[in-house]
Amino acid sequence: MFESLRQKMVAELVVGAGITDPRVIAAMEKVPRHRFVDSGLAHQAYSGRSLPIGFGQTISHPTTVAFMSQLLQISGGEKVLEIGTGSGYQAAVLAAMGAKVFTIERVPELAWRAREIFEQLGYYTIAVRTGDGSLGWSQHAPYDRIVVTAASPKVPKTLLQQLKDGGKLLIPVSSADEVQLVVATREQDEVRITYQKFRNFVPLIGREGWEL
Ligand code: SAM
Repeated sequence: MFESLRQKMVAELVVGAGITDPRVIAAMEKVPRHRFVDSGLAHQAYSGRSLPIGFGQTISHPTTVAFMSQLLQISGGEKVLEIGTGSGYQAAVLAAMGAKVFTIERVPELAWRAREIFEQLGYYTIAVRTGDGSLGWSQHAPYDRIVVTAASPKVPKTLLQQLKDGGKLLIPVSSADEVQLVVATREQDEVRITYQKFRNFVPLIGREGWEL
């Protein structure tokens, strides 16, 4: 049953939303999204609904995951830092695309739960840590890609510093009335930035994010 719901989700909310990267499509056809939400919500996991994962947080919408994953241009073997593990679904999709993923979550219970699911499903190329992701994860830096799945008031300097030369950072940046998705690419000491209007995200809470 979940298999056919997943195919339908990919047809409607991934391919139907204009995503063309075959790696993204194949990964989202494979990753069992229903395992990343509470079992009571499993039947809704393949809909376009926003689903709670506890602690006031939500699993990212399938189209958002597909869109961000496509923008990251994963061809296999990239080292990716994700800030905001949440349910773990985005990290699992990136791992299924061939990336080695380091993911940080500030809510310890969410980080523990995601680690357990990765173990159960055999995603051995994902490392999870609890902490303030606005400060990155210096131990494994530099990264080919950095993706932030919560909205920040600015692009944290520390994250730019942990980006490889030629690397790419995606981060939703929010102001009082809108959210922009910032794509920053680093070429030696130069950082090129583009913006596009984006959907709402929960706040990035941390030293280089929003203060509590
Ligand atoms: N990527 C997730 C998924 O696939 O389910 C969705 C993430 S949810 C929209 C955003 C997450 O960012 C929340 O779980 C929240 O606790 C986390 N978060 C907020 N500020 C953070 C910070 N400074 N460091 C790490 N995680 C943070």
